[in-house]
Amino acid sequence: MQAERQWFHETRAKAVIQALKGNRINGYFVQNRVNAVEQVLQLIPNQSLIAMGGSMTLFETGIYDAIKKGNYNLIDRFEKGISQDEALTRLKTGLTADIFLAGVNAVTEQGELVFVDASCTRVAPILFGPQKVILVSGCNKIVPNLAYAQERIRHFVAPANARRLGRKTPCAKTGKCEDCSSPDRICNATVVIHKQAFEQRLHLVLVGETLGL
Ligand code: SF4
Repeated sequence: MQAERQWFHETRAKAVIQALKGNRINGYFVQNRVNAVEQVLQLIPNQSLIAMGGSMTLFETGIYDAIKKGNYNLIDRFEKGISQDEALTRLKTGLTADIFLAGVNAVTEQGELVFVDASCTRVAPILFGPQKVILVSGCNKIVPNLAYAQERIRHFVAPANARRLGRKTPCAKTGKCEDCSSPDRICNATVVIHKQAFEQRLHLVLVGETLGL
């Protein structure tokens, strides 16, 4: 079963990487999370100023720990004990970092990247600012097209993340989207990157495992 799963992930990922190329987005397939750390570090020069978006994948793969231990300057918005004001200051500083690392919520077979965000602190630097953006995703996030991406986000990613983060939204209780107007709403913005203007800016590492939500 594991062999078939691996074959499925790899075959789909390779097709997506071809599509990404046509969109001026650089794609990489790696078998597992250990290889994902190696691939990401290869893309980052020593001493780079690095910022990160909220992403379970960056923690699950060990990328966050590797960056912390490495020869880099991390603007660490996840540091324990910092105030909300300090976290906000770090988020703003991250808008002009050399490198921005984040996850993605869905990747279409046409090579489009789809994100949902509550406050846009993740999507803002992905769209503009940092010189290089490196995204990491499990192959479980590959979907046939944008309609599937929207379904995935509204009916799985947003409710599960709302629950994880303790948001007071209907979906965090029922597991279903009710298109709420809650101040805690987690899906205030949905962003699709169809293509990239600058060829060497956007990189997506696809990992042959189930990662994140
Ligand atoms: S609109 Fe509200 S209920 Fe629907 S997924 Fe988003 S946060 Fe949950």
